[in-house]
Order: sequence, then structure tokens, then C-alpha cells
Amino acid sequence: MAATAQIGVTGLAVMGRNLARNFARHGYTVALHNRTPSRTHALIEEFGHEGNFVATERPEEFVAALERPRRLMIMVKAGDPTDTVIEEFAPLLEPGDMIIDGGNAHFADTRRRERALRERGVHFVGTGVSGGEEGALHGPSIMPGGSAESYASLGPLLEAISAKVDGEPCCTHIGPDGAGHFVKMVHNGIEYADMQLIGEAYDLLRQVGGYHPPQIAEIFRRWNTGRLDSYLIEITAEVLAHTDAATGAPFVDVVQDRAEQKGTGRWTVQIALDLGVPVSAIAQAVFARSSSGHTDLRAAYRDLPGAGARPLSAHEAETFTAHVEQALYASKIIAYDQGWKMIMDGSAEYDWDIDPGAVAAIWRGGCIIRAAFLDRIRAAYAADPGLVSLLSDREFGQEIGGAQQSWREVVATAARHGIPVPAFSTALAYYDSLRAERLPAALTQAQRDFFGAHTYRRTDREGSFHTRWAEHD
Ligand code: NAP
Repeated sequence: MAATAQIGVTGLAVMGRNLARNFARHGYTVALHNRTPSRTHALIEEFGHEGNFVATERPEEFVAALERPRRLMIMVKAGDPTDTVIEEFAPLLEPGDMIIDGGNAHFADTRRRERALRERGVHFVGTGVSGGEEGALHGPSIMPGGSAESYASLGPLLEAISAKVDGEPCCTHIGPDGAGHFVKMVHNGIEYADMQLIGEAYDLLRQVGGYHPPQIAEIFRRWNTGRLDSYLIEITAEVLAHTDAATGAPFVDVVQDRAEQKGTGRWTVQIALDLGVPVSAIAQAVFARSSSGHTDLRAAYRDLPGAGARPLSAHEAETFTAHVEQALYASKIIAYDQGWKMIMDGSAEYDWDIDPGAVAAIWRGGCIIRAAFLDRIRAAYAADPGLVSLLSDREFGQEIGGAQQSWREVVATAARHGIPVPAFSTALAYYDSLRAERLPAALTQAQRDFFGAHTYRRTDREGSFHTRWAEHD
């Protein structure tokens, strides 16, 4: 078989199929392979007219169809299947060839795979791909890791198929080995937090504000024309305006209130704990999903007493809506700030040298958290590449300062009405913890010294101290 394909895709389920079509639509010849050949043939039958595809069945055939250096993209189920496919193809490759894993791999697996393949001279490019099925076809946000050398050869293809914002591709070389998958993981963690915050805003508007779902859809549509302008706010308005065809009820009311998860949010929190980064808003979002699924616990708590706050009047509800917008925006800044802190701490830990502004730039389009807000983050890092926190940026600092009274009002109102707002309240607690002059951590450290002789540092002298507590009994 003549080697005519600039890229090959193995794993042709929804994501792989749409990425392959996206490459072909951009003029690349794409070799196709799938464990079960019927998927390959189905793609050719349905979409063969969209561009140049080379359908193959055997791994040897697939590899032989690729121009050198070969670019072989894996889009199979993450985990063991990825290792199986690597084992299958790596022996057929030559030094300088590239294996690109676009699945949702754990970055530690990507580091392991990259190390093993590097020894064989093969580049392994762990690549985050965000935007789901539609993004894969029309332009995802792409986060490739791996060597700079591999990006020089692969980058132009990935940039071509990525989303574009102001003419710029939503794809950049994130950093070596697992950097791309790490950043994709944090993207998903931020996505969890953003969705949870939006859910809490909706719940407050409904239960405290007294609005019906179509009215809340209108509020979200209005918010989407301002600083909260984002894909997630846009789709929330659509979901809330949707009526269930079978019952005529608001669609949101016929969906069981149990949110599932695939694992990237949980990984973000697990790794954050290892790195010691306080991603509390992301963690609360992950916990909120898991507690929603604990039907046994929810049944045990259901009849316990709650607050009996009086409903708001129409006029009060309007004012409250404005407060909720402020609280949502302020909490969102905190969630993103925590995400960026995690990216930068991961970058320092693994020596990745990630450009925080470039990450904001490639998340402006194609991915689930795409938002006008990302442009602001990019601008903040452009103004000061060494920014310790988004809140050190003058504009973000001013905005959150302006929002904080409303934010407190919303969290207090939620508590009075017995409405859970774990992400709003943890984001506010994080804000207050970091701005506090003194924290009760002093007492914690004194307790540690008391029961474990863990020592403490004093405010008035250098050094490490221990008090002989027993003598003071
Ligand atoms: P998927 O359901 O995760 O995986 C199905 C594909 O994996 C099929 O092509 C299947 O081949 C192949 N596969 C499974 N086990 C295999 C094995 N042991 N050996 C060889 N091939 C095997 O597909 P997907 O939803 O398109 O996702 C693909 C990857 O993209 C995943 O890693 C996913 O996490 C990631 N991703 C998904 C999304 C999304 O929105 N769906 C977004 C971003 C990233 P057969 O046809 O032979 O069964």
C-alpha cells in the first residue's frame, strides 16, 4: 500500500470518527482503523465523500498507509485499551514516528507511556481534546503534550482542525510528556465547578426567587449577553426553556436529580491533594455530584428539620437575582483562579513550563468552558506573566471586591432558606481565608504542638518552638 496519509486515526467511535472527518475536511488524507472493521466501513459509506480516506483493517496495513514520520492517533476507550493499542502498533513504528493519544488519559499514564516509547525513539503525544462530539467535528480545543520536536511536525495539523477565535487556533503545545493531559484534566475540574455554580444559581432563583424554569431561562439568556457570556450559560438557558414532550412539564423536572461523573473531576481533586493545591470549589462540585447519588443518605436525611424562611416578594426577587449574578461571577473567578493555580503548581512540580496565558487563549473556543471570560484571563497574564493569582490582576480584584457584598447576601440567604450552595459558599470561604489578617491556623498549630510535639513558629522571634505542655497542667 502506498503511504499517502498524513495522519491515521484508530478508534472510530464518536470522537475518532469526527476527528478523522475533521482532518479530511481540512484536506488531509486520513488512514482509518478500528478494532472492529465494520466501524471503518460505516464511516467510508456515510462520509467517504467528505475527503480522502484510506480504509484499513490490519494494523500493518494501517501503518503502511502513513507518510513518514508517521502520525498515528489513538481515539480508543481510555485506560487499558490504550495500552493494548500501543502494544499493537509500537513494534510497527520507526524512530521519529508519533503516537498521539487523544483519549481522556490520566496524565501519570501519559508520562509512563511517553517514557517507554521515548526509549524506542517514538514520540508519544498525550493530547487533551475538549468539545465533545460536535467539537471534534467542527473544531475542538486541543491540548497536546509531548516533545517540542513532535509538535513541530504535528502542530500544523492539529491547529488546522481546532476551533478558531479571532483567527487564532485553539491549540498550542502545552509542554512535555503529560502536560497536555494534565491541563485537560484541570479543564474538566473547572468545568465541574462552573456547572455546579450555575446549578446553585438556578436552584436559588427557583426556590428563593420563586421563578419558573422558562423565566430562569430568560434570566440566563440576559446574563449571557454580559460578563457571564459562555457556552455553559447558553446551554443552561436552552435546557431550562425546554419542555418535556411526553408530560408537558419543564424538562429539568423530569430528569432524576443524580449527577454522574466519568472521573476527570475526581482525578483533579486527587492530584490537587497530592500537590497541596486548595481547589475547594472544584472539590465541592465533585462532592456535590457524589452526594446527589447517595439515595440512601438522602432518604435518611429527608425528614430532618430545615429552615422555614418566607418566600421573597416579586420586587425582592428582582434584587436577589442581581445579587445571584454577582455571586455567580465572583465564585466563578475563584474556581478559575484555583484551576490556574493548580496548572501552575503542576507545571512547577513536573517541570513543564506551561504558559498560563496560552492555556486561557486555547480555551476561548471549542471547549466546554469556552467563554468571553477566558479572554480576560489571557489579558491578565499578558499584562503580568508572573501573576500569582487572578485576583492580583487589578480588574479582577476590583470586580470581586464589587461583588462581595452581594455574594455574602446570597450565601446568607441560602443558609436562611436551607438551600445548599456548597460551591458558592466554599468559594466565598476561600476568598475570606486568603484575605484574612489572622487565621485560626495558629490555634491548629498550637494544638498539634500540644498532642504531638509538632512545634510551632512564633510571631515575634525566628526559630522553631515547643512548649512543655504537661508542666502547665
Ligand atoms: P469510547 O466509547 O470511549 O471507546 C470506543 C472505541 O474504543 C471504539 O473504537 C472501540 O473499538 C475502541 N476500543 C475499546 N476497547 C478497545 C481495545 N481493547 N482495543 C482496541 N480498541 C478498543 O469512544 P469515544 O466516546 O469516541 O471516546 C474516545 C476517547 O476520547 C476516549 O478516551 C474518551 O475518554 C475520549 N474523549 C471523549 C469525549 C466525548 O465527548 N465522548 C470527549 C473528549 C475525549 P470497537 O469499535 O472495536 O469496540
